[in-house]
Amino acid sequence: MKCEAGASDNAECGARSADDCQLLNPQSIRTPHSAIHNQSAIRNPQSAMTPPTILPGAIVGVLGGGQLGRMFAMAARRLGYRVHTLAPEHDTPTGQIADVEINASYDDVEAVRAFAKGVDVVTFEFENVPAAAAAAAEAHAIVRPNGRALAIAQHRLREKTFLADHGLPVAPFARIDRDADLAAAMAKVGCPAVLKTAAFGYDGKGQVAIEKPDDLGPAWETLGRREAILEAFVDLQREISVVGARTAGGEWSPFAPIENEHLRHILDVSVAPARIPALTAALAVDVTRRVMEALDYVGLLCVEFFITRDGRLLVNEIAPRPHNSGHLTFDACRTSQFEQQLRAICGLPLGSTEMFQPAAMANLLGDLWEGGEPRWAAALAYPDVKLHLYGKSSPRPGRKMGHLTALADSASEAKARVLQARAALKG
Ligand code: AMP
Repeated sequence: MKCEAGASDNAECGARSADDCQLLNPQSIRTPHSAIHNQSAIRNPQSAMTPPTILPGAIVGVLGGGQLGRMFAMAARRLGYRVHTLAPEHDTPTGQIADVEINASYDDVEAVRAFAKGVDVVTFEFENVPAAAAAAAEAHAIVRPNGRALAIAQHRLREKTFLADHGLPVAPFARIDRDADLAAAMAKVGCPAVLKTAAFGYDGKGQVAIEKPDDLGPAWETLGRREAILEAFVDLQREISVVGARTAGGEWSPFAPIENEHLRHILDVSVAPARIPALTAALAVDVTRRVMEALDYVGLLCVEFFITRDGRLLVNEIAPRPHNSGHLTFDACRTSQFEQQLRAICGLPLGSTEMFQPAAMANLLGDLWEGGEPRWAAALAYPDVKLHLYGKSSPRPGRKMGHLTALADSASEAKARVLQARAALKG
């Protein structure tokens, strides 16, 4: 999945500009940079010997308004930080928790600039922010992760090329940018394969399966003849993910690998710890560390992996933000992925990622509302199951509305439990 931000309630904010919007919540306005240790380092990061620590009380800016930002904002506010968010929609899942919600397009470089000036550090919950916006933010605030990491992670070709160049395992792939590339790509990658748009693809969108060589031309037409990547189809045994965090000082900490099951290309259920050989788990964690070091990454990142039927580990993609599979860390770990993101971008010591118990998470998509409001009380009757809802008002099919988490003595029991609770929602 390339992106998980999902707020899209389209009511207008009513404010004409970022500054107008801040006035809607004047209580939360304060001067940024007042809670930062090592001020000179902020103004000129290059001159700093020690990376600055951004202390509680400072303002954290989140680009994006979806559920990832919402849970990040919850963690940040618990630690006494102020949160500002910028997204094109109004009353977003993040905005409902943040101190200040700014309603502007990511293409509105002036709005992004004003936003960055008003905060101490900027982070993302949505990676498809244009490079110009990330650069505008970087000119006025500390931005974590850096624009280069974002540029690589938001473009499948740059991402796969970066991974291959660093000796990290990926499925065979080739670039398609014009008709003349089709035959060479097919010769390199073979069949079956998957054709994906290079940019703005997520949750299986912008993907076409290629069963035979003759499918490739029409598939490229279907994708609008846009720059694309042809990837070998991987005979999957399992999919796993590793979420890790890294500070500017180079401290790094991974969560245990998580096992993921998709339905119609959308994450359905995650289970942790992943039921995989210890060696595969160690390798996945090591690849994640190498990705973060190669990107000089500060913040939290998720690497999604394929495990092939013959046991090989391949990187599918990199998400430069918290990940849907890591939602279970909210209830199952000493430190959630969201708190860890905050600690990493603020230069605080990273927390323990130890799990209290094996856990499972089941997504709640808009489809669940087809027969009316889900039976919340029936799921909550499972005392060991936690319900998370993202405050979205229109439950469209495929839209991520919330999730359930269960803890149990084993990963398999946790999975069975969370699926029972989700089934109970439908009655
Ligand atoms: P993506 O948006 O690239 O993460 O793709 C969504 C899902 O489609 C993945 O989690 C896999 O289940 C499946 N998928 C994507 N690429 C491949 C591939 N090359 N081979 C097999 N399955 C794939």
